[in-house]
Amino acid sequence: MVLATNLGYPRIGPKRELKKALESYWKGQTPFADVCNIAKELRLQNLKVQKEAGIDHIPSNDFAMYDQVLDMICTLGCIPDRYKSYGPIGPDLYFAMARGDQSEGRDVHAMKMKKWFDTNYHYMVPEFSKDTEFKLDSGKILGEYKEAKDAGVQTRPVIIGPVTFLLLGKMDDGSDQLALLDKIIPAYTQLVKELSDEGAEWIQIDEPALVLEQNDAVLDAYKKAYDAISSASDAKLLISTYFDSIPAKNLACVTSLPVNGLHADFVRGEAQVDAVINALPDSFVLSAGVINGRNIWKANFEKALTILKKATAKLGNDRVWVAPSCSLLHSPYDLDLENTRLDDELKGWMAFAKQKLSEIAVLAKACEDESSVSAELTANKEAHERRATSSRIHNDDVKNRVKNATPDITKRKSPFSERKRIQSARLGLPSLPTTTIGSFPQTKEVREARAKNRRGDLSDADYKTFLQEKTKECIRYQEEIDLDVLVHGEFERNDMVEYFGEQLNGFAFTSNGWVQSYGSRCAKPPVIFGDVSWDGPMTVEWAKYSQSVTDRPMKGMLTGPITILQWSFYRDDQTREATAKQIAFAIRDEVEALEKAGIKVIQIDEAAFREGLPLQKAEWAEYLRWAVESFKLSSCVVADETQIHTHMCYSEFNDIIDSVGAMDADVTTIETSRSQMELLDAFATFKYPNDLGPGVYDIHSPRVPSVEEMTTLMRKAMERVPAAQLWVNPDCGLKTRGWPETKAALEAMVEVAKTLRKELKKEAA
Ligand code: GLN
Ligand code: ZN
Repeated sequence: MVLATNLGYPRIGPKRELKKALESYWKGQTPFADVCNIAKELRLQNLKVQKEAGIDHIPSNDFAMYDQVLDMICTLGCIPDRYKSYGPIGPDLYFAMARGDQSEGRDVHAMKMKKWFDTNYHYMVPEFSKDTEFKLDSGKILGEYKEAKDAGVQTRPVIIGPVTFLLLGKMDDGSDQLALLDKIIPAYTQLVKELSDEGAEWIQIDEPALVLEQNDAVLDAYKKAYDAISSASDAKLLISTYFDSIPAKNLACVTSLPVNGLHADFVRGEAQVDAVINALPDSFVLSAGVINGRNIWKANFEKALTILKKATAKLGNDRVWVAPSCSLLHSPYDLDLENTRLDDELKGWMAFAKQKLSEIAVLAKACEDESSVSAELTANKEAHERRATSSRIHNDDVKNRVKNATPDITKRKSPFSERKRIQSARLGLPSLPTTTIGSFPQTKEVREARAKNRRGDLSDADYKTFLQEKTKECIRYQEEIDLDVLVHGEFERNDMVEYFGEQLNGFAFTSNGWVQSYGSRCAKPPVIFGDVSWDGPMTVEWAKYSQSVTDRPMKGMLTGPITILQWSFYRDDQTREATAKQIAFAIRDEVEALEKAGIKVIQIDEAAFREGLPLQKAEWAEYLRWAVESFKLSSCVVADETQIHTHMCYSEFNDIIDSVGAMDADVTTIETSRSQMELLDAFATFKYPNDLGPGVYDIHSPRVPSVEEMTTLMRKAMERVPAAQLWVNPDCGLKTRGWPETKAALEAMVEVAKTLRKELKKEAA
């Protein structure tokens, strides 16, 4: 029989109950026992929902108080030394690792966070050294397995596999983590044995590292690990991969392992369907990930069934399971909770985690007997037809504009050297000009005013006056401390994507579509459902107002097409490229409007440019092609005299430096302070010709950097990139900072620039 299975379920709670409980506990307002009770209720509720939906394989240990990788670190006992004083694992140690701890005279920092593959989920990075020892503590995993069993559900425990776990971590000396393989294997064999002894029939071992291109040493590690683990017990092992297809070499490896099944992502990895089905040995079941676990659209049953039928024809019904592409952790909870911001038509096209469970169950039934679910199949077909033909999605003008784009519209009129001459004359900036990245502190006062306005307790007119005052104060302050290119502070913006989405055509917003981002934090991404177009000026009024109160150049601030795409749920009925280009045209229209309104400097933020990179390097060039094109589509509408800035807040440029060059922004500001300007080596080697603003202070911390520190950083920058190309600015926007530290840091920053300018003058003389 074709089984309905699941890989993981969201755990933050339908109404973010876990978030609220945790945050209240951290404030000292809720005892930990209460948090545990809420967590248990959520787990039981999840079991119930999955059972009622007809899921045959329900996961356990997919719950985590903070993060599943942190839980695995605790399970394997590889706790970094700086947490030694906490003793055995308990909430104090766990949350110290997650969030750092400055209570009771302690001062330990948190473990680092990193993005989970190409999702917006962040995991805690395991820290290893050559001396790392592993010591199994199976309490949580066995506990959650038994808890479910007591509730009448035989679950499939989920663990992160040994090779992926090691690869997710970092050695303190940068050496190869696989050196720890021999030491980690016994903990896994023991864990699998204990689960099996407890009655677990199947164990799901997540090895998403198998979708990345891996070398032979890694593949050998898989063989070694699974030879040992599989012989430890009678439990059946399902290796699960997700987020992309499995490269051929890895597929040959994983199908030769002594395990009992493979889960493959047939949504992101649609191209691998035949390869996987054909490669599967007789001893394997196939868990077919046909329901998109990381988007909000209704599945296309017809398409999914085509894949499933291929699989059952080759493997037989007993060896095929229906599954989501990846854990449903990356989907919002329940579409039925949406009753304000989404209308019925849009809802009719969507499925959140709970609805996806039903889809899985329907497809499993359809594999056995289509007539048993004919009503569901028909309804799905009709929903897709309605969506495909809806006038709210399709706008021929938008489609044609993208289709008819000619190469000349993605080129500035003159080369950078010429533009620089014209812009310098127009803007009259000193050498090493100073600027900031856009936002200024979003104080409680600002957030409260926005909330009041939303609630209707502050009239639009009064809110606007309030914002104008804040903006003017901010501009006056920047003049006072003598910054060169000013910003308006972004007080009117809630979020750098939502602010634009709300004003563009083709976007919708949920009221409860939260997806966990890290720990207790969730994001509510906008939904891009239709052809995107500009519906009139979005920022021009604020830009004009701001420019009217100062004689210094004011930057118009926009979010770029790739960042808007990446931080939204995007369409599954056209390529990411097509959507990015539509957004690019809409931003282009705004850029044009800003220029017409007299704005001389325009910044287009591409914070997520690097995040959009595909997991497999083989696909990078194609992504970078359309990502760069999209940026240029949005920016290359201006005359030579208008200066285009872009901002990217990360510090790895080595492998994308030619694309940054190809974007051809007049000024690119980046995050460099934490890497001590080392990343500028990439720009130096590349001989990056345009202007560059390497961040001289880290805005992620309230710490105020000294003049000496920032001077040292700028000197390092000047060793790598000619001073004539350099700007002086912070790493990123100042939104999350308070005013006192912002003022101290910016004033010191301006002083640094002035001192260095004098030096440069002397040298020149
Ligand atoms: N302009 C935005 C700001 O200053 C950029 C934020 C970002 O790069 N994440 O807040
Ligand atoms: Zn940034």
